[in-house]
This record gives sequence, C-alpha cells and structure tokens, in this order.
Amino acid sequence: MLRLSGLLLAVLWCATALGEAVRVQDVRIAERDGATRVALDLSGPATHKLFTLRNPDRVVIDIKPARFAPGALPLPAGAGDVRRLRGANREDGSLRLVLDMQRVVPVRSFDLAANAAHGNRLVIDLGVAAARPSQPVKTAPRPPAVARDLVIAVDAGHGGKDPGARGSRGTREKDVTLSISQRLAGAINAEPGMRAVVTRDSDRFVPLRARMELARGQKSDLFLSIHADAFRDRRVRGATVYTLSEKGASDEASRRLAARENAAVTIGNVHLEDKDPLLAGVLMDLSQNASVSSSMDIGEEILQELGKFARVRKRHVQRAPFLVLKSPDVPSLLIETAFISNPDDESNLRRSAYQERLVAAILDGMRDYFYQNPPPGTRVAQLAQNPRPRERQYVIRRGDTLSEIADRYNVSIRRIRSHNSLRNDRIRVGQVLRIPIPRDI
Ligand SMILES: [Zn+2]
Repeated sequence: MLRLSGLLLAVLWCATALGEAVRVQDVRIAERDGATRVALDLSGPATHKLFTLRNPDRVVIDIKPARFAPGALPLPAGAGDVRRLRGANREDGSLRLVLDMQRVVPVRSFDLAANAAHGNRLVIDLGVAAARPSQPVKTAPRPPAVARDLVIAVDAGHGGKDPGARGSRGTREKDVTLSISQRLAGAINAEPGMRAVVTRDSDRFVPLRARMELARGQKSDLFLSIHADAFRDRRVRGATVYTLSEKGASDEASRRLAARENAAVTIGNVHLEDKDPLLAGVLMDLSQNASVSSSMDIGEEILQELGKFARVRKRHVQRAPFLVLKSPDVPSLLIETAFISNPDDESNLRRSAYQERLVAAILDGMRDYFYQNPPPGTRVAQLAQNPRPRERQYVIRRGDTLSEIADRYNVSIRRIRSHNSLRNDRIRVGQVLRIPIPRDI
C-alpha cells in the first residue's frame, strides 16, 4: 500500500520534474523585536505544507515539487527562536526545510507573489514580540491545567573561573557539562508535565550556594548535577551516579572527605575525583531532609538507561558517604557522565550524538521513575493514570530513515533509539522497531 503510493508519487514527480520544479534560491533568517522571520526566495510559485513536531520542537515545511538550488545550501545559522535550520531535497521530488526551535511559538506562513522588486517568496513568521521571555531555555510554558509540572533542576557543573577537570585533548569539564545540561533542559521542557530550571546557561561562575538556592526556591522535585570525572589513571572510565548516604556520617567518610579536600588543594582546580567537597556540601544541604530512597530509585533508573549504551563504572548508585538524611526535601543526584581523563570517554563526551544519548538515558530514567512514583498534584500523576504507553511495531522498508519514521509517528529519534536500544541511526530493511506512542494529551 505504502509502496504503491510512493511509486505513484514518484511517477507524478517525474512528470513535473521535466519542466517545472521550483528552485529555492536563497533562505534568509532574521530576528526583529523578538519575532523571527524565515524567507525563501523561489524561482516560481509553489505550494507548501507546514506542520510542527514536538520533542524536540520543530517546524517542518515541505514544498513540492521543489529543489534547493546549489547556492541555497548550506542554510544560514539559526537566529531568534530558531536554533538551527536543516534542509534537504527528498527523493519524492519535494524539499523539506526543518527549523529546530528553541521553544514553541506561534507560527504562520504565507506566499508573496513576484513583483517588480522581488521574485516569489515564501515567508514563515515565528513568535510575536511581546511573548518572548528573556531566557527561552529556562522554562517551558506552563499548561493551563491546575496540576503542576514536575520541576527538574539541571545543574551544569563548574563554569566561569572554575573549569573543572580537563581531558588530555584539552576538553574542559565546564564546557561539556554545560552542553549536556542545555540539551537535557531542552528535552525536559519538551516532555509533557516536566519543566527544567537551570543553574547556569552560559560559561559563568555560579556559587554552589546559589545553585542550591535556585533548586530549592523553584521547589524542585529533583536536583541533577551533571559532571565529568577525572582520575590520574587514564584507563579508568565509565559513568557513575551518586546520591547521598544514610550511613555516611562515619569516621571513614570524614577521612575520605578530608583526603579529597587535600587532593584539591594539591592539584589546584583539577580535582582528582571530582566530588568537590563544596559540592558535596551543597548536595548535603539540599538533601538534608531528602528522601534517600527516592534519590536512590531515580538514580537506579537512570543508571539502567545509561547501561544500555555507555560503559558504567558501578552497576548501582553510589552513596557518597557524606551525611545522614532524615526526611524529604529535594532528592539530589550527581551524575558523572564519563571520565574526561580517559581518551575514549573524552572523545565520546565531545560528540553531540553521545551527549544526546546521555540526555535520552537520563530523561528515560527519570520518566520511568516519575511515572511509577508520581508526586500527587502533578500533571505526570494525571498522565500516569492513563493506560501505560502503548507502542506499535513498525517494519523497516527500503528507503526508510529513522528521522522520517520519527516524524511520521511524532516521536523523537532519541525516543525511538532509546526505546529500541539502538546504538546509532542505522536501520535495516525488515527490522522491527517498537514505536512508543507519546503520552501527551
Ligand atoms: Zn565536576
């Protein structure tokens, strides 16, 4: 059925291709007064179809029949609410332009006919001036429902004058943690019923106390501190997840804490084990009253997801032996994503695809936990009452790509990948994919 219609489309396209494919000669983008406009210069009139996709947020424009003129590619860099522009000529004779969005904004598109000064144009307007907050990544729009969103505080370790650990290729921990954290915040904000607050969104120094106060002030349901480990033995690698220990206040704990403090003094900013004593203090403070068991459980879910693709140094959540915990406040986790001091881990950490996988794993782990243990009064609690997410099966056909399948079912590539434990975007004909059905709405 699908194959037949594809053939039909191909035939139609061939018929039109002989003479009249519209060429997109230029793509321009500009931000003005908080609104973003994308304009396409066309060689003639064309029809287009525009639709939006969530998680991550995208605006997709299909023009058919049309091709990008060689001069139109590569596309310009993003501006305003558009993080990135992507586009390609497609086999069916259409052209697809994808706008990766910073956030969800109102969209409209219209055609402008040729006149004396300009040729045909297609204009896409995104957002309106008044609605633009100064920090688009920080918070997602709240739903009108009474139920509240889960608030996840995402803490990019280090920053500014504190670079954190450094890899042998010069990768700085503070850069890696910021990049991962920004991706994570974006993914959380795209998730129904969840909202991210970030402790920093640029390369700046944020005192640990301020990080903690932000998490607490925003009534966070979880504080996630993102780091990359370092160790003098470069063979050591893998991810580790820490929470705080009930049985921590021992002499042993004090001894180790003191040892770390001494190490930090000895080697300056490059801490050997990265459980900065100061950060430990912050986590301690945050979790002073926190439910250890929920931190442990969330951590275990995240570890399980990480273990599907990453090397995991310890199979279970490690309890940093710092303190005694009593009653609930803000569950806190420290995720050492990998060892920046290990060359393989370092090159993984530099790759955006790997960062995306880390983000997907962390999000999947949190989702697993919170859907099983939704805090009362949250939107996730409502969503969790729906039947567990159904999924459907899809058999890969020739010519399929993961991104097209993701678009078709309105789920993200990372969701499909994590749901099927795929290591990359490669798929083969006949392979059966399980497609999760989004829980939204
Ligand atoms: Zn660190």
